[in-house]
Amino acid sequence: MSPIVARTADELRRALEARGKVALVPTMGALHDGHTKLMKHAASFGDATVASIFVNPTQFAPDEDFAEYPRTFDSDIQRCESAGISVVFAPEIDQIYPEGPHTGITVDPGALGASLEGASRPTHFRGVLTVVAKLLGLVRPDAAVFGEKDFQQLALIRRMSRDLCMGVDIIGCPTVRESDGLAMSSRNKYLDSTQRIQAVALSQALAAGAEQANAGAEAVLKAARSQIQEAPGITLDYLELTDAQLGAAVPGQAARLLIAARLGSTRLIDNVELTLGI
Ligand code: AMP
Repeated sequence: MSPIVARTADELRRALEARGKVALVPTMGALHDGHTKLMKHAASFGDATVASIFVNPTQFAPDEDFAEYPRTFDSDIQRCESAGISVVFAPEIDQIYPEGPHTGITVDPGALGASLEGASRPTHFRGVLTVVAKLLGLVRPDAAVFGEKDFQQLALIRRMSRDLCMGVDIIGCPTVRESDGLAMSSRNKYLDSTQRIQAVALSQALAAGAEQANAGAEAVLKAARSQIQEAPGITLDYLELTDAQLGAAVPGQAARLLIAARLGSTRLIDNVELTLGI
């Protein structure tokens, strides 16, 4: 059955009138198999599953790719249909920001939002958390599903739901990858054919690091760094090892190795879970 497409808050409310449990998957569209996995997971959780498609201007800095961000609405709707989505919420900007994008009260991401992505993109997480708070307020889901691909984003949204007592169950889904290991991303569309081949170096560096997990944090970082530094066409932004909550990594415990790098003007991120040796 094709999903109901709601363009306004009123249409959304009507579409969700006879709601049971609702699960939400927020997206910016240009949907790929990573999004499909989130949507299928949401469909197994809720009676009604909502996917939002909204390219949120406030999470892009003025020199970033808001205008160029891929918009593929018709194929997105088909993908939502085959993933079992019942309602697509695809608002115009004024439904989300009636007085303009940079007005009104926003969500402060705090210290957790200042490291990693936040160090490179200082206004990004304020925009992300603010739009997610708005979407949670509009849809009022029981659960919302996010990808581990954006690991810091997932951690921040969990914290927001908890710290602001939003009562929404935040569910994380593992990263879906291309067959060569590259994490799926809407931004992979920006890569030319040479860059697409070079981009596999991010996941290869993470794998090289993870292989050294038993040898401890220094060995992990050394292996990953030497792999990425030798890779052609790639400028490293950061490579960091943290614990599962993005604090300091602890020997013998679950850790995350996170990377951001540029290929030309395209910035990609990825991360992997590992357990450090003692
Ligand atoms: P985006 O449309 O890029 O804002 O992403 C929407 C949601 O899909 C976020 O929760 C992302 O973390 C998630 N996502 C994006 N790429 C992947 C992937 N390769 N695997 C799993 N989830 C993903």
